[in-house]
Amino acid sequence: MQQMTLAARPVGAPKDSDFALVEKPLPIPAEGEVLVRLHAFSLDPYMRGRMDDAKSYAAPVPIGGVMEAGGVGEVIASQSPHFTVGDMAFGMFGWASHGCLPANQMRKLDDTLPTSTALGVLGMPGFTGWYGLTQLGRPKAGETLVVAAATGPVGSMVGQMAKARGLRTVAIAGGADKCALALEKFGFDAAIDHHAHENASSLRKAIAEAAPKGIDIYFENVGGKVFEAVLPLMNTFGRIPVCGMISGYNAGALGGGAVAEGPDRLPVLWRSILVKQMSVNGFIISNHYDEYPTFLKEVAPLVATGQLAYLEDIVEGLENAPRAFMGLLEGRNIGKQIVKLT
Ligand code: NDP
Repeated sequence: MQQMTLAARPVGAPKDSDFALVEKPLPIPAEGEVLVRLHAFSLDPYMRGRMDDAKSYAAPVPIGGVMEAGGVGEVIASQSPHFTVGDMAFGMFGWASHGCLPANQMRKLDDTLPTSTALGVLGMPGFTGWYGLTQLGRPKAGETLVVAAATGPVGSMVGQMAKARGLRTVAIAGGADKCALALEKFGFDAAIDHHAHENASSLRKAIAEAAPKGIDIYFENVGGKVFEAVLPLMNTFGRIPVCGMISGYNAGALGGGAVAEGPDRLPVLWRSILVKQMSVNGFIISNHYDEYPTFLKEVAPLVATGQLAYLEDIVEGLENAPRAFMGLLEGRNIGKQIVKLT
């Protein structure tokens, strides 16, 4: 079997030499374990954090350790009564051709839907968008929502769920093609290309035009320039589910809580939260899986009937995973980034 391991901790953006492809003998499942041949695995922004040795909500990948990932594949050997050879399953198998896990850490897949959906629209990212919007965004018809990384699996779920609940939806996306997708495929009411705006005040003007009644929910995926642009446009009693801030992931040390030198802008932020009485809620989706069955019950039928759109960006081959991951951090992916294994 093959595995992609962490060879070095990146300084800034990851590069080829931070990864190493290794060959290993195929594991033999012990009592209660299941061996899977992977068909695909997921690349997600959180994996950049796992490459750093900074204190965070999850332990880093050790040097020489297998890069973490959720994957889907076919059971090829089982020492558990819960799985038989040929079953399709999801588990955290890592960036690898095969994986062996205890059966209680795996989930059998519904074979009526493409298995890749368990990595995106019906997997962790889709669930993140649904949970953050419905539980923390508390959307109400007639309100306005803004989300960036809008054509990705989190943002596209947030946009479609908000639209279905009667909100005006404004997408922020990187480039004209992604803006067109946001409008045409995901039904956003407006889409703004953040690359077309050099600074936050120019971007703010464009967002203000697209959100003439102000912003009630800003679903935070990216931080940086977009957050700067949005903050003054928030309405009283606005909600900000803080999901991610990908614009800072390559800065590394931010994960440890370090604050960069510079003018103290904290009073502006706290004052905005105070006077507008906003709710700002950070969340880590792995702590909310008790809600996952509710999510699947609501959303799986929408995917099956085509009422909910999703987009996947497939790259083939384990050896191409590092480049695809680097692209994801720079916005080169168009839709959910998946690595397919042949
Ligand atoms: P995407 O597939 O949407 O990929 C990331 C996208 O982020 C890129 O395609 C790019 O889109 C955008 N981006 C990258 N750099 C910047 C930048 N500097 N400024 C603005 N946008 C940028 O990712 P996901 O949908 O999987 O994840 C979205 C966010 O949700 C991430 O921050 C992720 O970490 C977070 N997340 C949080 C979870 C939690 O438990 N809290 C769980 C899952 C995800 P574009 O080209 O359109 O700008």
